[in-house]
This record gives sequence, structure tokens and C-alpha cells, in this order.
Amino acid sequence: MRVINFSAGPAVLPEDVLKKARNQLLTYKESGMSVMEMSHRSADFQAIADKAEGDLRTLMGIPENYKVLFLQGGASMQFAMVPLNLMTQHKKAIFINTGAWSKKAIAEAKKSGEVIVAASSEDRNFAYIPKTDAAMFAGDADYVHITQNNTIYGTKFNKLPEIGDKVLVSDMSSCILSEEIDVSDYGIIYAGAQKNIGPAGLTIVIIREDLIGNAADSVPTMLNYKTQADASSMFNTPPTYGIYMAGLVFDYLLENGGVAAMNRINIQKAAKLYHFLDNSSLFSGTVDEQDRSLMNVPFVTGDAELDKKFIAQAKERGIVNIKGHRSVGGMRASIYNAMPPEGVDALIAFMEEFETKA
Ligand SMILES: *Cc1c(COP(=O)(O)O)cnc(C)c1O
Repeated sequence: MRVINFSAGPAVLPEDVLKKARNQLLTYKESGMSVMEMSHRSADFQAIADKAEGDLRTLMGIPENYKVLFLQGGASMQFAMVPLNLMTQHKKAIFINTGAWSKKAIAEAKKSGEVIVAASSEDRNFAYIPKTDAAMFAGDADYVHITQNNTIYGTKFNKLPEIGDKVLVSDMSSCILSEEIDVSDYGIIYAGAQKNIGPAGLTIVIIREDLIGNAADSVPTMLNYKTQADASSMFNTPPTYGIYMAGLVFDYLLENGGVAAMNRINIQKAAKLYHFLDNSSLFSGTVDEQDRSLMNVPFVTGDAELDKKFIAQAKERGIVNIKGHRSVGGMRASIYNAMPPEGVDALIAFMEEFETKA
């Protein structure tokens, strides 16, 4: 039996996608082999990769002057790759520090130049998105970096900072495809696939073409966006099965109304859960209302022992991976696109029951 999986990542995938992959596991179409066994240079695989890219472009409305790259190394490798490729003119970048992933990105950028932290929400354990104004971004900098959705703390940018004509770089690992965005607001969007797209091992980079080709010669070949863009992500063997699975997810999203439809469902799922938390006498959310994430919902009882009991009893009901990150404690429900509304309903029903007994 499949459980109700609230994992923050790798996370739940649409059941229809898993079934399709199962059906094609041994032989993909007429190829007589599994996608895992195919050359990445074969016509069959090229068609899979081309369709995956095309469908992602359709889903996100990616403009012509942006490249889509299918890379490895996770979002964590982008923490290094972005500064290596972009910190070229001023050798300076501006960051908004909204948590653990921002900090890791900052630490890597510092290896390539100067980092200015324009705003931070560390004073309250990252329970909100800090306010910014245009003046904070007035000085020279090669780019401005944000973590769009903060997986651990459950916050998200509901409005982009006013950065003027600076290049915006966004880590969208835990919110890509959860709501409509305007790609042209960004210079680079990157995301590890394992939260809202597919299995781990694939990293998606969407990059404006003028940001490619500026890295110093000393930058390792594989870490230069130009290498990856010139070779259409096939400079070396790409994560073929991950690309195939992501392609199945893109196809599934397009068949189910695209990002706009997902966003409507995501809003409903999150609203139900937050409404319950706001009215509960036992559980409460940990994030300021206006900055709440649609994807990751941390909550606590205020009593660590009770939290433990809740997590253990939930597991007995098949509600799993609900334990919060250690830096927030309590619980966290990650409710990505692939979490069906019935999963959220089941969680709320169990919380109600637990609250009545507590
Ligand atoms: C999970 C996550 C990361 C790290 O991703 P990896 O693919 O494991 O490197 C970075 N940023 C955010 C926002 C995340 O949620």
C-alpha cells in the first residue's frame, strides 16, 4: 500500500506518472530496451529530451532567449556555478538571506567575490521574508540572489524585490511549477528536480542567453554554462532517466491544466491546512501569515514530546515524513503538486482527532 508521503524531498510523484514509467520500464515504445539502457545520443533518447524541454518551455512560458539546461550536481552545485559564471564584472553579488539554503549559496559565492547581504530574517529564525527597498540594490553588483521558497522554514517570496535592472537569480528548488511566474523577470532560475518535478539526480537551469559565455578560462569546463549550453546539456552523459521521468511529469501537468491549474489546487490545499492551523487550539503554524509557503507548511504543538507522539501516531495511519527540520522542530507537511488534496484532507482529519484526544 502506498502511504501519504509529506516528504520535503525527494518527494511524492504523481501516481499516474509512476504507472506509466512502470509500463515502459522494460521496453520503451518500439526500442526494445529500457530508457535506462539507451545511449543518450540515440534518436529515441534525443526525442525524450527534446519533448521534455519543449513541454517545460510551454508550461513555464520560457522565452526564446533563454536556454534550458538539464544538469547534475543538485541546486547545491548551482550555488557555486552561478557565481563562477556571473561574478565577472563587479565581482560582487547581493543576497537576501532567508534561511539555510540562502546561507549555503552565500558561502559558495564568497569564494568568487564579495557578497552583500541586503536583508535577512535570521533574527526570528527565518519565519518571514524580510522587507526590501530599491535603495538596497542600488550599488554595483553582478546579480541579486533569492531563495524563492524556503523549504525548511515554510516561507516564500510573494512579491519579487525591486532590484531595478539588475540580474535576478532564483533558487526555485521547492516551488518551480507550483505557480505561474514571468521567466523574463529572472536571469537564472535553478531547481533540483527532486521536490516538485521528478527523481533526484536532475537539476534544471533556465538561463538568459546573455549570461552565458562570460566565465573566466580558469572555471572548470563542466561548471561553465557555455559548455553545457553549446552541447545542449550533452557535453557528457546527462541524467537520462531523470530527464525521462521529468518529461513524464511535464506531460502529466500539461494534460491536467498546466501550472495555472496546479496553482489553483495548491492554493486550496494550503488554505485548508493553514485555516485548520489558525483555528486549532493545539497546533500552530510558525510563519508570518503574509509570507506563508504554498509548498512547505511547518507547524508545532509547542511541546516537543507531543510532537513526537503525533509523528509516531501519524505514521501508524500511513501519514509519513511529517517530522519537521531540526532547525524549526515540530512537523512539516510538504504539499507539492503531486500531493493530492485527499492527502491533505487525511492529515487534517488526523490532526483534528489528535487534538480532541490531547
Ligand atoms: C533541497 C534544496 C536545495 C538543495 O538541493 P540539492 O539538489 O540537494 O543540492 C537547495 N535549495 C532549496 C530551496 C532546496 O529546497
